[in-house]
Parts: sequence; C-alpha cells; structure tokens
Amino acid sequence: MNIKNYINGKFVNPIQNQWIDNYNPSVGEVYGQIPNSTQEDVEKAYQSAKEAFPAWSNTTLAERSKILSNIARLIEQKLAILAEAEAKDNGKPLSLAKAIDIPRASSNFQFFADAITQFSSEAHESVGLGAMNFTLRQPIGVVGCISPWNLPLYLFTWKIAPAIAAGNCVVAKPSEVTPMTAYLLGEICNEAGLPKGVLNIVHGLGTTTGQAIVEHPNIKAISFTGGTKTGAHIARVAAPMFKKLSLELGGKNPNIIFADCNYEDMLATTVRSSFANQGQICLCGSRIFVEQSIYEKFKKDFVQKVSELKIGNPFEVDTNIGALVSKQHLEKVKSYIDIVEQEGGKILQGGNKVEVKGSEKGYYLQPTVIEVKSNQCKLNQEEIFGPVVTIMPFTSEEEVLAMANDVTYGLSSTLWTNNLQRTMRMSKNLHTGIVWVNTWLLRDLRTPFGGQKASGVGREGGFEALRFFTEPKNVCIKYE
Ligand code: NAD
Repeated sequence: MNIKNYINGKFVNPIQNQWIDNYNPSVGEVYGQIPNSTQEDVEKAYQSAKEAFPAWSNTTLAERSKILSNIARLIEQKLAILAEAEAKDNGKPLSLAKAIDIPRASSNFQFFADAITQFSSEAHESVGLGAMNFTLRQPIGVVGCISPWNLPLYLFTWKIAPAIAAGNCVVAKPSEVTPMTAYLLGEICNEAGLPKGVLNIVHGLGTTTGQAIVEHPNIKAISFTGGTKTGAHIARVAAPMFKKLSLELGGKNPNIIFADCNYEDMLATTVRSSFANQGQICLCGSRIFVEQSIYEKFKKDFVQKVSELKIGNPFEVDTNIGALVSKQHLEKVKSYIDIVEQEGGKILQGGNKVEVKGSEKGYYLQPTVIEVKSNQCKLNQEEIFGPVVTIMPFTSEEEVLAMANDVTYGLSSTLWTNNLQRTMRMSKNLHTGIVWVNTWLLRDLRTPFGGQKASGVGREGGFEALRFFTEPKNVCIKYE
C-alpha cells in the first residue's frame, strides 16, 4: 500500500522518489510505504496553495461553510473505513477510533463550518475625534499545519478545518508514524467539492518535510502539535521570519483527588484518564495525587480495576488497551519503567511487555501503576506518554497545589472534589491551560484549548482558532 502526496487535488509520488516504511504496530510489521517528501515537494504544494488562495479567500462564507459540512458528512459516512485505517496505523482499539477519533474529525469540520458564519470583528468609534475604526480580519495566505501520531485524524483536522474556514490555503503534514487517514482525507476533500490546491498534504519525516514547511519563507503561519522539544526547535526556526506560531506541546498533567469526591465516578474516570489510547493523549492525568485519608482504599481499588483491563489486538471488540504506536516509542516508555527503583518508586501493577496471542511481534505493554515518594523524581517530571501513571498521597490543599504546579509543563489538570470554595481556589491557582473538575476530557469545541509553560503558546478552539488563522487590520476612517 503506497501512500501518495495530495497536491493540487491530485495524488502524486514524491519528486525524489524517497520512501519510508509504514508499520502496523499491532502486529509489528511493515504494511506500506509513504513518501519522504523533500523541499521540492513542499514547494510544489506551496505553489498549488498560492494559486488557489485568491479564489478561495474570496469564496462566500456560505459556500465555504457548505464545503466544510460536506467534508464532515463524508467523514461520518466513511466512519467504518477510517476507523479501521486509524486502528491499523496507530494500534489504538478500533472501538476507540469509532467512538472518539473519527466522529471528532467530522465534528471539527462541522464546528468550523458553522463557526465561520458567526465570526465577526470589532468596531471602535473614536468619539470626539470624528473617526471610526473597524477591524478587518483577513486570511493570512498559505499556512502550515503539522500534527502528531496519537490522535491522527482528530488533531490533523482540528487545524485544517479552521485554517480553510477562515479562507487560507494549507500545506499540511501528518505524522510519518500514522499517515493513513490523512491520505484518505484527500479523497474526501475532492468528493466534497473542495477546490484543488486549498488543502495540500505532504508526507514525510519531521526533519525533512516538516522542516521544509517551517523554513518556507512564504508559509506565513505554522500551527503545530507535538513534542515540546520539536516545538522549541520550530520556534527557533520560525522566529527570525516573524511567522505566526501556535504551539500545542507536551504535558505532565496532575489528577488531584480529594476525599470528598464522588468516589465511584472518580475511580472509573481515573482509569480512563490514565490509560485511554494507551496513555498516549497529551491530556492524560499521569501524576495522580490522592488525599491521605482515602489513599490506601484508592490504591487497592485502582490497582484492581487496572488489572482487569484487557490488553489485546485493536480489532478485538473487548480490547481496552491496544498496541503502542511504534517499537521506538515502546522502548522509550519501557526505559522509564526500568528506572523505577532507582527513582525511589515501586511498581504496584503492570510494568511488563505483553505477547498478544496471534500478534506476538506487536508493541504491547501492560498498563502500569507506580507508587512514588516524591514529585521530584523523573517519573513525575518527564513526559512518558504511555500507559504509565504514578500515584502518591498528599495531606493538604497547599501541598498538592505546590506539587501540581512544580513541573515544567502546564497543559491540563483534573480536580476531584465537591467543595466549592476549594474548586474556585484551585482553579485559579493551577498553572494549566485547562482545569477539569469532576470530569476529564469533556470538550466543548468553543472553548480555548492549549497549554501554559512548556506545554505551548497560543490557543486553539472556537474563535481563538479563527483569530489565529486571520490577520487583524485596523481601518481608521475620519468622517469629520
Ligand atoms: P513530535 O514532536 O515528534 O512530532 C510531531 C510532528 O512534528 C510530526 O508530524 C513530526 O514529523 C513533526 N516534526 C518533527 N520534527 C520536525 C521539525 N524539525 N520541523 C517540523 N516538523 C517536525 O511529536 P510526536 O511524537 O508525534 O507526538 C507526541 C507529542 O505530542 C507528545 O509530547 C504529546 O504530548 C504532544 N501532543 C500535544 C498535544 C496538545 O494538544 N498539546 C496533543 C497531542 C500530542
């Protein structure tokens, strides 16, 4: 199965004819090839986007909205094919791809199809000076969208939908680790009537294809989701060119559990917030802090529930935990489990690779619970991004707040309590872009999404995304 680049509405081979193997992580085997696109391919994609821009940026909002809705509808119609492709490419349970990834990709297009018809800008009357100002919000031109492997189509479309809704043309690159559903999106866009060149998808490695997008002098904005190190590198490359940047990066999110919470709800949600998608969600609560008075009970109940999770081939209906995305990533996650003792921790559950019957070469790892003594250990300070969580007790609100914030990241936090005053105090003082109280990953697409500190710069979601993908221009008219 050879994947091709999608440029100017057509599927084309990479100019230099360089290819990368594409793996099915659930069986550990190569099942296809993808282009490793070079600067020449990115230039071709850029030229196609540039040619499409004048017409697309002048297309009525109603027409843009209709085309985005068509894409949303087609994704929904092809849910079964897309979910299978995602599960095979990524290793995630098919049930998860069907319930979350693909429906959300469709919602991303439908949401921005609607949002663009409601987007407005400001007017400021300069009273006493006889002038009126209004803000023109114009599309930027050609923009770059670069996404990671953990939620492949979900995050890819979360960038592309607002970019094209706002009238931009796009050069996009999905992760080289999970390119399949991005490839299928090209066909969907053609079928939906998206004019050629509005979206161009180039495949390849970050260091070749991604770098060429970021370095391109006329790609004026970069929306990036991925690791913090890569984000820092992109910022260094893009800053001297004064590109607009949106960086959604890593996380090391606290899950803070007070004794007054709704226990059963907390327990079930904590299993999910720890291990959904094999723990490979930037928002997973990987540092669990539990109030001392319920610590022993929680420890016992949590470990019991985690031990019941079924690790298996993503295509089996009762699989809870599928394969990790790659051999390299499995080894990285395992390397943290290997230093547990050295870091003063103790494995309470899991910790081992798993041979799944019939898929022995797949990249499976037991969901792992580690008890730690200090928030200062590597297991609590570094992003592991796999099915691994730590737990430790706390005695006071002040203590847990200090530990929650004592990390370089600041993406999200989860708080379990029924105390209103505490909820308000903690929400104000947690240094994260999102605070979930008595829930996790409940998403309203109108809300600002993004992180503080090493978790990124800028916000996606709702009008924030439409603001990012437009340039505000103040027009001042003197009338007296
Ligand atoms: P990554 O940084 O390795 O890669 C992300 C994307 O960037 C890929 O498409 C990759 O090819 C590309 N890339 C790599 N080097 C590049 C370069 N020099 N120039 C341009 N592009 C380059 O991240 P990953 O391993 O794919 O994803 C996991 C990371 O993503 C985790 O840290 C996770 O927390 C983070 N993430 C964050 C969010 C969020 O919303 N904050 C969401 C999902 C994942």
